[in-house]
Amino acid sequence: MTMQPVSLAESELPSALVDRMGRRHTDLRLSVTDRCNLRCAYCMPPAGVAFRPHEEILTYEEIARFVLAAAELGLRRVRLTGGEPLVRRGVVDLVRMIAGISGIDEVAMTTNAVLLAPLAEPLYEAGLRRLNVSLDTVDRQQYRRLTRRDELPRALAGIAAARRAGFRSIKLNALAIRGFSEAQVVPLARFARREGLELRLIEYMPTAANSGASARQEPVAGPIACHVSDELPRPAPLGSPAAGDRHWSSAQVLPGDEVLRIVAAEYGPLEPVAADRPGAPATAYRYGDGGGVVGIIRSVTAPFCGACTRLRLTADGKLRNCLFDQAAWDVRRALRSDEGYARLQEILRRSVDRKHPLRGASHGNLIATDRPMHQIGG
Ligand code: SAM
Ligand code: SF4
Repeated sequence: MTMQPVSLAESELPSALVDRMGRRHTDLRLSVTDRCNLRCAYCMPPAGVAFRPHEEILTYEEIARFVLAAAELGLRRVRLTGGEPLVRRGVVDLVRMIAGISGIDEVAMTTNAVLLAPLAEPLYEAGLRRLNVSLDTVDRQQYRRLTRRDELPRALAGIAAARRAGFRSIKLNALAIRGFSEAQVVPLARFARREGLELRLIEYMPTAANSGASARQEPVAGPIACHVSDELPRPAPLGSPAAGDRHWSSAQVLPGDEVLRIVAAEYGPLEPVAADRPGAPATAYRYGDGGGVVGIIRSVTAPFCGACTRLRLTADGKLRNCLFDQAAWDVRRALRSDEGYARLQEILRRSVDRKHPLRGASHGNLIATDRPMHQIGG
């Protein structure tokens, strides 16, 4: 008699990375560099960014050792991010190393796609299967203003190359920023529909870090703004908070519901679609005219902490259990000491065990993260 392979639901698989809320940590956001070839106004200052010195950045061998230790504890999916992952030399080799680790069943990447054209094929061959391309506008002038670089043509060429290389799951991620995105949403949707890509609009998350407070690592008093005007100033403090409010204003958050109204005004009523995976952060909607699917990630107006399955490793080897919690465990030290493998697994278990139920314990709807997104890995 031949035995049929048993396929277990993810919830039945053994895992040591289950936190006190019962959340099973199967996903790792892996930042491979804090450097980037763009300077998006919401993420980086125009100049003078202090990058981590090379010796502080984990080597690919170190990263692979960490992923192996985590995979043994139940990690299943790894998403490479940054900074811009494609600016790090040899990233294709890292993809191959991670894809070859037993237990890892998906390697994905979030990229601005500027360097993607020549790398799409090698990445696919190395085992990368999912691509999220961040693109906030398809208007060249607006792109230049927002990213401070004239790279839209190369980003579009990168997307086209990825489709030719065989990537079937390419998502187009655009931030929803009040004062900027209202005019970008429909052209983005048109582009995504024409190219057969799923557009996902993500509520911009104001951070302490991008308000300029990160250097001092202390909260900013008052709401912050990221006005996208002609000279694209750095986000600056505006006014003062309401009495007792210790969080930041959502002045430039464009709520997902408003984005939906803009899309529906152009394409007709939207139909909610069942999530492709439980706990997926995006709510998907089918266009009224049948022209595909658009997703909304309500990271600010409806946080999805209850279904969070993620851990994050920064390029300099700090393990974080939440984007919004400043607690970090020093993986690099463990990797570079004699403490070894058992210590890595202990760090992983401890980090998961200490995870707060909601947004690094903050119940406010804005974020007190200490590092800007290019340093944590968005
Ligand atoms: N450079 C790559 C890219 O842009 O796709 C990967 C790193 S980037 C930090 C990852 C994602 O974080 C991008 O989609 C970017 O739009 C998003 N991001 C950066 N700052 C953000 C913020 N304040 N709120 C929400 N998303 C943010
Ligand atoms: Fe670079 Fe991505 Fe940050 Fe833009 S969002 S500056 S592309 S890391």
